[in-house]
Amino acid sequence: MIGIDLGTTNSAVSVIEAGFPIVLADKENRRLLPSLVSKTNDNLYVGHEAIPHTPSQSVKSLIGREEVPPSYNGGPTKIMSGRIQVMAGDTWMSPVQVSAEILKTLKATAEFRLGKEQREAVITVPAYFNDRQRAETKEAAELAGLKVRRLIAEPTAAALAYGLERASENTKIAVYDLGGGTFDLSIIEMRKGNFEVLATAGDTDLGGDDFDTVLAELLDCSISEATEQKRAFDTASSVSGVTAEAYEKACWKLLERSRKCCERALIDSGIKKDGLDRIILVGGSTKMPMVRKHVAEVFQQEPDLCLHPDEAVALGAGIQAGLLDGTVQTLSLIDVTPLSLGIETLGGLMNVIIPRNSTIPCKKGELFTNAVDGQTSMKVKVLQGEREFTKDNWELGEFEVAFTPAPKGQARVGIQFSLDANGILSVLARDTSTQEDTHITIERSTVDITEVAVEKMIDESVDHALDDMDGRVFTEAKMKADELLPSLDEALTLVGEQLDEETKAAILASKSDVIAALESQNGAELKKAVEKLDDATEELASLVMQSILG
Ligand code: AMP
Repeated sequence: MIGIDLGTTNSAVSVIEAGFPIVLADKENRRLLPSLVSKTNDNLYVGHEAIPHTPSQSVKSLIGREEVPPSYNGGPTKIMSGRIQVMAGDTWMSPVQVSAEILKTLKATAEFRLGKEQREAVITVPAYFNDRQRAETKEAAELAGLKVRRLIAEPTAAALAYGLERASENTKIAVYDLGGGTFDLSIIEMRKGNFEVLATAGDTDLGGDDFDTVLAELLDCSISEATEQKRAFDTASSVSGVTAEAYEKACWKLLERSRKCCERALIDSGIKKDGLDRIILVGGSTKMPMVRKHVAEVFQQEPDLCLHPDEAVALGAGIQAGLLDGTVQTLSLIDVTPLSLGIETLGGLMNVIIPRNSTIPCKKGELFTNAVDGQTSMKVKVLQGEREFTKDNWELGEFEVAFTPAPKGQARVGIQFSLDANGILSVLARDTSTQEDTHITIERSTVDITEVAVEKMIDESVDHALDDMDGRVFTEAKMKADELLPSLDEALTLVGEQLDEETKAAILASKSDVIAALESQNGAELKKAVEKLDDATEELASLVMQSILG
């Protein structure tokens, strides 16, 4: 399996050979492929060959978007049937088509070097890519003939590359990844080869392209000229009459955006600046001296330059591919379920089977019974989310489980959830009397969910915690009341005259309390009233039993 860094400016492919990741070079021995595609006079050019026709494209800044961001400077664009198109030579192409051609070329490079067909890949994406950006990245891979085994966050990939030779260390690192069009900051804890991402923050609209735009204005030149001139600042203190200091000053807004993300990730991770052992730099834009200086200021320590800024992410993708196909065993990524998984039970309530933050892979199960006499099947609705009611969570799928008919509460169905290392959920339901199994697999990964969606779900669950809890208490108490009230009337008709007046009055008073609480829809009151009714009917229940048993 291969690992691919599909970058804004450059892309690369890597693989594990003899236990180590290597970036594969093309026939001309070039390891980085410019992320450019051009179709000119019906000839397709990809990478270096596309440069003369299409000097800049940055389609990664457009993939999965409905509108072109104002900071985009990759050449002409237009919207066709609601989708963005970029100019590729003399032809309009979608960001997905351009990405597919880049991926096809990387696939061919790998096949040329490895001598066999490659059908599966791990692809890196910015940690802050949303569902649509991820889905379109996968779509591009499919068009290129690659099945995506896992999309991993770029900073996590860089951490894997950093950690491969330090598997015995216990450290906390920050990965500062500033590429051509995106910025990510992740705080990662490494414990004896196990990696856990503690926090991530980022900006999918901040990258080297923005620094190009600032310089183009300062020098009053074209964007492509500015891109070239920007590199001169790596070593020079002044370029074409603009001092490094003036350039840095003009970029203060961009650096401020980066600072905010870093501070947010630190707060989210609960780690202080001095608790971080290293700050790792990745992404082409971290070659800029002003960015290195900024990082040193924000974290109050000099950044670590041990990783190759252009290759680290691809190497990490290769390591993740090696973890999945078994060629790497010294490391592991601790992935956790970002949101709880469960099934719907009576009353539209969610019953959690695998709680949020469980490490994967994992397996958990529970026994369920029939709610109605002689029930022949049960609908299993698989849910993900933090809310008490099905309607507020995400439905992942559903299936029917056949029951052997039995009196209420006597049929038993075991439900088992298994989550594999990719976050793919398999649900198994077993009728315990026949040992017959029914199962489904939810194709969509339960782990590969955007931070934004997870945060929204958690925020909503906090906002609605009290209402949701009261709703659950009310629903559960109502189910009990719905069961008690009709059988109470039957019992009173059957054996009511055997009760003394005081007991009968207590039962009737409790009954009216239950009815009043049902009407007022107050969960806590209803629960109390149902419990009181349950106590008050103890003698009545035993009289009913005696009359049945004769
Ligand atoms: P990446 O997306 O990681 O390939 O990063 C590409 C970005 O890094 C582009 O904005 C490049 O202009 C920028 N970049 C690459 N090399 C340098 C350099 N030597 N100095 C400054 N910026 C660079």
